[in-house]
Amino acid sequence: MTGSGPGRVDRAWETVVGLEVHCELRTETKLFCACKNAFGDEPNTNVCPVCLGLPGSLPVLNAFAVELAMRIGTALGCEVRRSSFHRKNYFYPDMPKDYQISQYDEPINVGGGLDLPDGSRVGIVRAHIEEDTGKTVHQGESGRIHGADYALVDYNRAGVPLVEIVSEPDIRSATQARAYVTELRAVLVATGASDGRMEEGSLRVDANVSVRPRGATAYGTRCEIKNLNSLRSLGRAIEHEAARQIALLEAAGTVVQETRHWDEEAGRTVPLRSKEEAFDYRYFPEPDLVPLVPDADWQARAAGDVGLLPAARRARLVELVAASAAPTPQQTDQVHVVVAQGLDELVVAAARAGAPAELALVRAANELAANLDAALRIEAGAFASLVTMESEGALTPTQSKAVLAEMLAAGGDPAAIAAAKGFEALSEDSLSGAVREVVEAHPDEWARFVAGEEKLAGFFTGHVMRATGGKADGKAVAAELRRLRPSP
Ligand code: ADP
Ligand code: MG
Ligand code: ZN
Repeated sequence: MTGSGPGRVDRAWETVVGLEVHCELRTETKLFCACKNAFGDEPNTNVCPVCLGLPGSLPVLNAFAVELAMRIGTALGCEVRRSSFHRKNYFYPDMPKDYQISQYDEPINVGGGLDLPDGSRVGIVRAHIEEDTGKTVHQGESGRIHGADYALVDYNRAGVPLVEIVSEPDIRSATQARAYVTELRAVLVATGASDGRMEEGSLRVDANVSVRPRGATAYGTRCEIKNLNSLRSLGRAIEHEAARQIALLEAAGTVVQETRHWDEEAGRTVPLRSKEEAFDYRYFPEPDLVPLVPDADWQARAAGDVGLLPAARRARLVELVAASAAPTPQQTDQVHVVVAQGLDELVVAAARAGAPAELALVRAANELAANLDAALRIEAGAFASLVTMESEGALTPTQSKAVLAEMLAAGGDPAAIAAAKGFEALSEDSLSGAVREVVEAHPDEWARFVAGEEKLAGFFTGHVMRATGGKADGKAVAAELRRLRPSP
């Protein structure tokens, strides 16, 4: 082996990756019926004759799904054009109709590309509309396919609108693949097309992986790894699959084109089906749907709703938190997190309301991002008030986090919550009074502190905190101690 292990750049071989990303659209209802599009509902409650494919039912295309698809196409610089629907036929228990309606030879979005933060660009082949399948849940001790006692099927997901974004084979490493999905996810969140939740299956990735000798122009034979639902799995699967192919080729073997499954626990890919076993989908035009021809007005409206893309959103935050200086590496990370989670508008609103943007960014990247569901419902004005109270010293950081936790749990006004918690700010007088009392009560420690034993600052702060029931601000206590200490 020539260093083809995970995470290492191989000197002799180049990895080539093309990704197919399935994105569930954030619509109220499914693609062809009025059933609710929701994650986590009681199984088989959001179903009707249309999404179950009962005889005589007819699909009606969801206009908002089309609009979101056009937003995605616009954001990725695709040509948005006339499209049509086909039936993709295959038998699978989680697909009640025995066919999936998908755009085939006339997809709505064609061409385009995505620029990554590292400066590289990944071409987009197409981004088409299709419907999701249901979900098979394997029951048994292992919870996985192998060793399951039986399987149950939930059709709530059947018919949920998807856009499948197919990249060119422009990706050259697991790291770049992760960066691509991270940026694409941010685009999908920024445009409002997706909630971006990989852990709920809102984004699912198939990775096509091949290897070729460095310097070669022709592509190697690829394998397709299905259904990767985390960035970690995506990265690991690509690294292991590339290493497997390299080992095979170095042992004078050949790579067989096939579909493989990523076994997270075993840390390897295993064959699902070979090219010979591939489904023959017998595509034919969906007879119950007319071609989709969005007029110029509709296209312009969708394009107008795309809004700021992630790169511009990040630049806007950087401008707010570090207008004159360069942002710290920590701030850069925070900016990425906040934009990726769709929390940047809250920070911008807080800054516009007069709160310091730096502190708003910190609270958004930490406390808000850790409780995203609630954070996306929080009132911008209330968040701005909280940040202002903390920055003005009316709340200590610890108190501020406690108030924010309460706002996230139950909503409400930060000042009222702070008052209810007894977080009225210590006046300057009572703070310095408390510090003085503690100093007077511990003359020996104070003498050592004055003599330069810095670690005793913590001792005094602790005592002041206890004396004030945690209401004192640590920074203010430190400042008061410094003020009292005679300068050498
Ligand atoms: P299919 O229709 O069989 O899925 P496509 O030509 O549409 O095949 O390609 C699907 C995906 O595979 C695309 O993302 C493309 O970039 C990627 N791909 C194609 N050839 C290769 C290759 N040799 N190595 C890695 N990825 C590839
Ligand atoms: Mg494919
Ligand atoms: Zn339905």
